[in-house]
Amino acid sequence: MILLKERTKSVTHRVLESLNARMNLPDEEKKKYENQVKGFEGEKQFDFYMTQTHPFGIILNDLVLTYRDTVFQIDSLLITNDSVYLYEVKNYTGAYFYKEESFFAESGYKILNPLRQIDRSATYLHNVLLRLGYRLPIYSVIVFINPDFQLYSLLPNQLFVFSNQLPKYLNTLPSQDVPLKHERLELANKLKEFHNKNYRPDNLPTYTFDQLKKGIVCPNCFSTKYTTTRQNHFCTACGYKETNRQAIERSIKEFKVLFPDLMLTTTRIYQWCGEIYSRQHIRIILKKNYQSQLSRHMTYYSEN
Ligand SMILES: [Zn+2]
Repeated sequence: MILLKERTKSVTHRVLESLNARMNLPDEEKKKYENQVKGFEGEKQFDFYMTQTHPFGIILNDLVLTYRDTVFQIDSLLITNDSVYLYEVKNYTGAYFYKEESFFAESGYKILNPLRQIDRSATYLHNVLLRLGYRLPIYSVIVFINPDFQLYSLLPNQLFVFSNQLPKYLNTLPSQDVPLKHERLELANKLKEFHNKNYRPDNLPTYTFDQLKKGIVCPNCFSTKYTTTRQNHFCTACGYKETNRQAIERSIKEFKVLFPDLMLTTTRIYQWCGEIYSRQHIRIILKKNYQSQLSRHMTYYSEN
């Protein structure tokens, strides 16, 4: 098994995670954030099973691809010599029933039909592969990863795998007996190249720099309580330790995810970090990691 692309938190997940630590999120956004966290945990759980089984092929996790201006997301892709397996991982909990091609929670609420979702991804993926010159069968699989998920009706097809069936299912995947075709690695690399890591969905909440709480947010517990020494930054809520440089670099990345259109300047980052490190200290770190640019007598920093 070759893991060509590791799973990372989506932009939506990262934005909501920061906002949740830096402002009072409205209930609806908070719910969205919780769903992101839950979804990510489910996907990590799936990755764990996958790594344990070690199927033969190449794995690409959370791909964001575009076909003719339409963006589609793939939780996991397994490319083998003969086929492509497309996985949609759902971390649903509770009881559901399936009726008239829809999923209903016990409360009566209708949820997004994962069948429709995966059909859409499979169609676009098929076209992307074709455009790249590959004609491979795509097998779509929806994985209900949580053992606390119950479905009270028969499903119309064989696309579904429940958590208790997952180990058995993964053992049906091809195992290593022949060498992996070179063209498959080529295909996987092309897909990885096509991944849009800067994709920002248009349904993100609105917020401004001034509105958000400043300071270094702990990556472990999201607290902004801290103490520092000459070398290190400590979270006093959970004990997480990193170097001052790491804390600043991490905060710059967080700033860039939240504000892709704002200029990266020493003053901004000085304020963003809660004014606990000197401008001088921050300037050194910006200079080290980014290119300095001059615009209207102001220095700002960019990736290139
Ligand atoms: Zn902490």
